[in-house]
Amino acid sequence: MGQAVQTFKKETIQKMKHYYKQVINDKPPAGAVFRARTDNAVITAYNSGKVLFQGSNPEIEYKKWSNDVNTTNQKRKPIAKQSNITNFHPPQTLFTETHIGSDESGTGDYFGPVTTSAAYINKEQIAELKKLGITDSKQITDQNVMYLSNELAKLNIPSSLIVLHNEKYNSLQKQGWSQGKMKAMLHHHAINKLLTKIKNRPYDGILIDQFCQPDLYVRYIASENESLPDKTFFMTKAESYSIAVAAGSVIARASFLNEMDKLSAQVGYSLLKGASQHVDALIAQIIREQGEAILNTCAKLHFANTKKARKLV
Ligand code: MN
Repeated sequence: MGQAVQTFKKETIQKMKHYYKQVINDKPPAGAVFRARTDNAVITAYNSGKVLFQGSNPEIEYKKWSNDVNTTNQKRKPIAKQSNITNFHPPQTLFTETHIGSDESGTGDYFGPVTTSAAYINKEQIAELKKLGITDSKQITDQNVMYLSNELAKLNIPSSLIVLHNEKYNSLQKQGWSQGKMKAMLHHHAINKLLTKIKNRPYDGILIDQFCQPDLYVRYIASENESLPDKTFFMTKAESYSIAVAAGSVIARASFLNEMDKLSAQVGYSLLKGASQHVDALIAQIIREQGEAILNTCAKLHFANTKKARKLV
């Protein structure tokens, strides 16, 4: 049993309905205009304009109408786009080749900026960096993050760093930017900054620690007239597989910790990481003693913590 599906204009479907009227016996299924049954095929025409020919010889019936196929309506489904999504996944070989990785820090912390770093790792350095203990910064103590970040600098690992300070973060957020879009633009800028730095040094790919679907990332940067550099890949938990992403995560985290120290000195409170109830209590204390305005300089105001803290004041 074969089958064919084609899209036709509404008028053609009415012509078909008229043509087959003697053999339209079946009750049409949901969304269908009619269903007809000939010796050759069962023909089902849908409201969408799609007509399905199935049975022993569907082509005999189909050929009667093939000249009327609505080609203007034959918009290719975004199949290409979908296959791109799978293409965004890095090849296994990338992790052992020379590549770039990027990661961010601070997105889940009420206080402090969002920092993003991209790092370029030559394949000859991978073993050494692993031995040094470069891995996902979430698995490392703050003290060790600072140490490892210094070691990366000593080894002259090419890297870039972008810091989105709280005032800017809050103003973008008020303009309607989602945190996802901010992250996408931060990664994009960090990668471009690094690409400029390394000039023509070769690499096998760019790996972004995935925080949203790659096609959404592409749309975020496209909304700012930017596009993906060649050979860009996305993967969740990439810092556990790629030493370049792990290096990026260490540099980004170290920068976040430094910025938190600076902010703490600036506002006169030892600012807490994370977004827990302890953070709520500290926010309430700051509001009581300094007023709410100061939060714009050191916090991500749209977090639910702000409202929770107001109730504690
Ligand atoms: Mn990450």
